[in-house]
This record gives sequence, C-alpha cells and structure tokens, in this order.
Amino acid sequence: MRNLLRNSRLRLFTGIAVLLFCSTAGAAPATPADIFGFQPGDDYKLASYKQMEVYYRQLAQESDRVQLREIGKTPLGKNLYLLTISSAENLANLDKYRSISEQLARGRVDSETAEALAVEGKAVVWIDGGLHATEVAHGQMTSLLAHRVATEESAEMQQIRDNVIFLLMPIMNPDGLEIVRKWYESQLGTAFEQTTPPELYHHYVGHDNNRDFFMNNMPESKAVAKVIYNEWYPQIIYNQHQSSPGYARIVIPPYSDPLNPTIHPGVTTGLNEVGSAMANRFAMEQMPGAIADVGFSMWWNGGMRTVPYFHNMIGILTETSHDSASPRFYDPKVFPKTLAVRANPAGVGITVDEDDSGVPDARVLYPNPWQGGESHFSDPVNYMITGSIAVLRAASDSRLKWLMNIHRMGQDAITAGRTGIRYYVIPAQQAQDGEARNLVNLLLEGGIEIDRATESFRAGGNRYAAGSFIIDAAQAFRPYIVDLLEKQTYPDTRLDPAGAIKPPYDIAGWTLPMQMGVTVDFINDDLDVDSVRISGAAHTPAGDVSGRSRYGYALSHASNASIKAVNRLLRDGEKVYWSNDSFRAGRTSFAAGTFVIESTGDQTADRVAALATELGIDFTGLNSSPSNDLSALRLPKVGLYKSYVGFMDEGWTRWLLEDYGFDLVSLSDSDIQSGDLSNLDAIVLPHPDARVSFKDSIGKILTGHPPGTMPEQYTGGLGLAGAYALQRFVKDGGTVVTFGDASDFAISQFGLPIRNIVFGASGQDFSIPGSLIRATVDTSDSLAYGMADEVAVNFVRGAAYDVLGQAGCVDDLLNQRNCREVTRGGRPLVEPETMSRFDSIVNYAAEDLLMSGWSLGTEHIASKSAMARVPHGDGEVILFGFRPQFRGQPRGTYKLIFNALHGATIDESSE
Ligand SMILES: [Zn+2]
Repeated sequence: MRNLLRNSRLRLFTGIAVLLFCSTAGAAPATPADIFGFQPGDDYKLASYKQMEVYYRQLAQESDRVQLREIGKTPLGKNLYLLTISSAENLANLDKYRSISEQLARGRVDSETAEALAVEGKAVVWIDGGLHATEVAHGQMTSLLAHRVATEESAEMQQIRDNVIFLLMPIMNPDGLEIVRKWYESQLGTAFEQTTPPELYHHYVGHDNNRDFFMNNMPESKAVAKVIYNEWYPQIIYNQHQSSPGYARIVIPPYSDPLNPTIHPGVTTGLNEVGSAMANRFAMEQMPGAIADVGFSMWWNGGMRTVPYFHNMIGILTETSHDSASPRFYDPKVFPKTLAVRANPAGVGITVDEDDSGVPDARVLYPNPWQGGESHFSDPVNYMITGSIAVLRAASDSRLKWLMNIHRMGQDAITAGRTGIRYYVIPAQQAQDGEARNLVNLLLEGGIEIDRATESFRAGGNRYAAGSFIIDAAQAFRPYIVDLLEKQTYPDTRLDPAGAIKPPYDIAGWTLPMQMGVTVDFINDDLDVDSVRISGAAHTPAGDVSGRSRYGYALSHASNASIKAVNRLLRDGEKVYWSNDSFRAGRTSFAAGTFVIESTGDQTADRVAALATELGIDFTGLNSSPSNDLSALRLPKVGLYKSYVGFMDEGWTRWLLEDYGFDLVSLSDSDIQSGDLSNLDAIVLPHPDARVSFKDSIGKILTGHPPGTMPEQYTGGLGLAGAYALQRFVKDGGTVVTFGDASDFAISQFGLPIRNIVFGASGQDFSIPGSLIRATVDTSDSLAYGMADEVAVNFVRGAAYDVLGQAGCVDDLLNQRNCREVTRGGRPLVEPETMSRFDSIVNYAAEDLLMSGWSLGTEHIASKSAMARVPHGDGEVILFGFRPQFRGQPRGTYKLIFNALHGATIDESSE
C-alpha cells in the first residue's frame, strides 16, 4: 500500500521536480523497497529499469545529498543516468571540485599549487552498476548503495560524504537489463530459469560493450568517456562484474601479469593498495571468499577498468559470484584441487587444497577461503556493497594522497614526453582522411589534447598541410597516446622455456593507426608551427563538387565515407556504377573502382552537393560517360545470420552495415532453413563467438544450443537443412560472405576445395590470439577496390587458406563431387573442379608479419591467403580468415566487406 501511495505521489511531482527539490529535502528519502515492493537482493526478484528510474529520481528529489542527471541515450532509446552523491555542502560547490580534479589530473599546475588544490579538493570516485546484463546483481545493488551512502548517519559515512564526490552510474546497460529481466521472468519456475537470453544483451555488441572504451563506437561508451576523461577525472574507478570462479565469492585486485609497460607504477601500486583495503574489509566483516590475482591482467586497453590505467587513474574490476536472482548451491566437493591461475592458465595449477579438506587452503592473496554451500541473491548484492564502501573509504581515508598522486603521475608523463617521440602528427590530407578525423575524435573523447596546425609546416623531413593534427607527447595522459598509437609488444611469458605461452587475457595488439589505415608520423624534434587547440570534435571540412557534370560525377573508392554516400544515392534511386578500369576525365585520372554517378538532373546535383558537405568527400564532375567498362550497382539486400547463441560478431556486423546504410535483414535458423533466400544478394555469416562455451565453432553454428538446454524454439542451430539452404543459395548465384570461424563452416559444409591450414593447430606451434598482421592486397581485384597495397589485418585465432590437393575432392551437401577428371600428358587425373578459379584477394605477408601484439609460428601462414573468393556453382563464397570489422576497430579493412556486398549486386550477364 505504501508503495502505491509513493508511486502516485511521485507521479504528481514529476512535472515540478525542480521546484520541489528544496522543499522535500530533509524528509527521510524513500528506500528502494518502498518503490520496488521488495528489497533488492530478494530471491527471484529483479527490479525493472522503469522502477529504477522512478527510484533514482525520487532519491534525488528527497535528498540534498544526491543529484541526478541524464548523460546519454542507449541504442534502444533509454536514458543513461549519473548520480552525484556527497555532502550537501560539497554538492553546492561541484564546479569548484570538478575544476580542482581536472587541474590535478592534467598535471599542468606546479607542485605547490597542486598541494593547495589537493588540500581544498575532494577525492572523486566513480562506481557503476556494470554493463554485462546477465550479471544481474550489480544493476540491482546500486539502488541500495545510493540509498546507504546518501542516508546513513554513521561516522564513517559522514566522513565519506565530506571527503568524496561519489559518481554513481547505477546502470550502464539499461537495454540489456530489460532484455535479461524479461527473459528471466518468462522462464521463472521452468527448467530454464537460470539460462541467459537467446540474444545479445547489448543491442549491438553483447559482452563486447566492455571492449569499446577506446573506440567509443557505442553511445554508452561515449557518454561514460565524456564524464570520466573530459569532465570529472576520477582518481578511482570501480566497474562491477559477476564472473567469479565458483569456488570464491569475489575477485578483487591485485590483478595478474603481464603489466602494460606504459602504465605508471603509481597506478599499479595504488590499485594494489585499494585491493588490500577491500580484502581487509571483507576479512573484518567476516565475508570469506575474496581472492586476488585470478587471471585478469593489466596488459589490455579498451575495458572500463583498463582505460583508466592509461590516464593515471586507478581502475578496479571485481567479479562477484552468483549471477542469478535464483538461489544456488555451491558444492564444495566440486571445488578445484588446483587453480589454473597466475602465470599458467593452461597447464599445471597451484595446489589449493594440500590437506585435502575439500576447500582451498588460505593463501596470501586468498586469506579467507569460502567453504561453499547455499547462496542467495542477497549474497552477491552484499559483497558488492561491501566492496564499494571499502573503495569509498579508501578514497576518503587517503584523499590528499590520491589527489597528489594523480598530479604527480601527470607531471611524470609530461616530463617523459619531452624526450624521444615529442609529437605525433596526423596529416590532414590522406587516403582515409575521414578515419584520421575519427582517430582524432576518439582520442579527444579519451581526454587527449590535440592541436590543429593553422599553417603548413615541415617536421621529420616531411611537409604537412595546414589543418594537420598535432599531438604533443608532453601531456598527462601520454600513456594513452603511446599505447593507442604505437605498436604493442606482448611479453613472451612461460613458466619454463618449453612451456606454453601465457595467452593474453583479451587481445595482444590493437595499434589504431595500423587498424584504421591512418598515417600518424612520430616526430622526435621540436616543432615550430602556429596551431589552435581543438575543442569539441574535429570538424569535417565540406568536400568539393568540382568541374562540369553534364554526365555525372566520379567519386573515389578510397574513403569509407564514400560507401555511405553511394548507399544513400542508391537508396534514393540514383544510378551508380563501378568503373572496372582506370580512366581519365579532363586532366584527372581515376583508379579502377572509382564510383561513377550518372546524373538524372538537378536532384542528383543537390544530393551530391549535400553528401559532399556532410561527409567531407569530393565529387568530380564528368561531362561525358567514361568510355570504359562500367558495372551498375544496386543497394545490396543483405541477409545477416543471427544465431540464438548470440554471436557478438553478428551484432558488430549489424551495427556496421546499418551505420553504412546497407539494406539489412536478420536471418534466424528457421529463416534460412525454410525461407526463400532468392530475394537476397548476399548472406553474411559472422564469426561464431559467444559467451556460451562450445567445443568447436562449426558446432556453434550447426547445432546452436543443444536440445534440453533452452526452450525448444531456440535449440538446434542452423542444422544440415540450413547449411543445405545456404549452399543452394550460393549455387544458384548468391554470394555468401564469412568471417573468421564461419569460414571453416562454409569450407566444411559446402565442400569447398580449399583448406584452412592452421585449423586445429596446436598452441605450442602456432598462436596469434589477437594481433595485427601484415598482409598484401591484390588491388586489381574488384573486392579490393579502394584498398591500400598493404594493410594490417586483425587476426584473432584466425585462418589461412590454401587450395586442397586431390585428396580434397569431397562430396558437398548437394552430393556433388567437387572434382573433375582431366587428362594431363596422356594420364587421367582428378582435381578439384574450382581449383584454378580460387582467387586470393589478401595474402599474409611473406615476412615480417607481426605488426603489433604477439605471435608464434607466423611462418605457417606466410604468403598464404587471408581472404579468398571461391566460386561455387553460379555464386561465390568470400572467406575472411581475419576479422575485417573486429569490434569496429580495423577500419582499414572495412571496404573489403563493402565491396563484397556491392559486388554481389552486379548482374554479370549484362557485362
Ligand atoms: Zn562482466
């Protein structure tokens, strides 16, 4: 009843929230239970995002210690909120404290000024309710945390409120929260109560939403980066998760090796110190099971907790066990006897139960082992609240130190930037100038200071045009610049020389200029050039429409933005062609692959002019049709396979193709098995990555969720019927494009006369877990129009192709032998039918393959095909052994995908 009353009262108030702010302050603020009707952490109960919005708005109205604001929107249109919690006095002076935090983090003020600022300032701590939506506890927990920090009158909490500006982002992924809550409620009481939804829990990127924090492709990442790296500069950032090993309750810092060498040791030691404070609090509150040094390394950049390291900030992740609202029993009898942790995740573990008591022994970094047993939803909720308060307390206790430390680390970075590489210059004019601006913008979002030259200048033997971008290495967040712009060299860590390498926790190399196809020059000398500081985002200068255009326009294929323009023109019904040869018009020569737009009058001219302005691309007028060979394009109708297992690569592909304006339709298992695919130009099979473990990738596509593990309509995968339908689609003239392991699926299921030569290779012999590999491109092929001769490809446990020998004459699903009998020198031979028509578009380089990251056994893939076109019946399969759009990073290889899709619309009979 009380709940209902509060809700109706709130409804009356929402329109005049601001007016009521002061008058309601002082009344005891509502608890989450008042609004939800249950206590967060009650078994089987998940609050909805709507209920949470009501609660947080009400808390901000009723407490003068809480402010709430919207900081962005999700892909599905939900509001993202940030709460600021502190004493009422501090909240009245937020601008001052924000400014102090910024000045100290930027490291520009001298030490004396810094100390005066630090004495006056407040520690700034970010804690969030996580972003992995199936890890359900943190999104519920934050309502209790907010209420407690705002209302508890203990001496400790008063001290925290006095010393700390607490930024609480209660939910980072509200779309996912609703996907998971609705699924859970629909399955509650069935055998599938503890399953996860048959779709990605972030609309586009699923679990990879925690792999997006330097690219900021997703709106949530952008919103968070703005607050952290351009506004508040917290000294401590704490990101919640729930994939603890089942024998422990919570994973806390210190983390594991390797340690990225660009991270200031003050970050690592500060992080270890906060980790110890957390461990101590769990010990004193008699909460067993807090364990450190469990595989989460300090190498990788791009996660919510790791990007802060490169900004001299302490980034914490905890992994709390029990990621469900349903109670569970953790049987100590199945707890491991050895833990595959630390330096050797693949091999010999550390014996954790020497006395065979059934529970792990106490260790220095696991001093209070958990005994297992019954667990309720309130357990992870309580561990998270305790961990959060430990962090707030550590910030409060050592406020002055954290503020002085971040200043000192910033000063150290500024000093380091005055020797060696002094400047990073991004030339204004380059093949991918749109991507150069994207690189500038994502660095700006990461708080990097960037200048734009207002005149041309010389540096390092090169001449740069006005408008080129200059990044001074002497700035506080230099580690971020170095890490993103220079190559990574992942350490070769083994327990013994013959032992297996310690694989990276995530990927090993990500150097952005390489991936994005953007030139960035490293300058060791002093620079003398007039420049202005960029504020906001890098401006896209309007492109030109030049020359007379009685026939139409030519548009270069080199820029990714050109593809957006072409798709818009095609959607508007304009006539667009590929020029199959190079040609000249007036004094200008155009490369093969140049887009030719045939004008139908003023409307075309208006559209072209608008696209030039918006996208910053240049159109050249053509007075007559280029006399060469043109292929008419259509807007491709693309089918994208969407598995119920939830492949992140599917989401990334969907995002990319939507962003570039392709006509896209999602295809479920049954859509492919029974649907009519003939209206599609191309079908894309994404790499089958998922959070659900499967024995092999092909199985993930073929069998999907095994029967009995999910409600029946989501089980079974594509099956042989689906594989057959796909093969029929190709044989009838369609194009199938496959990424990563989906290529193995096509090879095996269609019986393609090609083999992945590293399929099943042992990790001792060949391993490239996520690195940038040098490759050469056959730019004469239409699939490589607009590409550079050499590119960095993103190789994540990828593939390399070679033709099969005679043994490869296999039956395909249509029971056709992919072989033919021929006579050579009077002798009958059998060879794969399509062998001579196998086109390799991209090959791994012959030598010097590793560009960034780590690799073992690159000689196995040297000169082998990285991307191939394999004709099959009347159609073709385009196999990618690397990941051309991995997490929206390798923009230098996007066009290979776009060309495959546009190429699928060309009616070859009309050529
Ligand atoms: Zn997680």
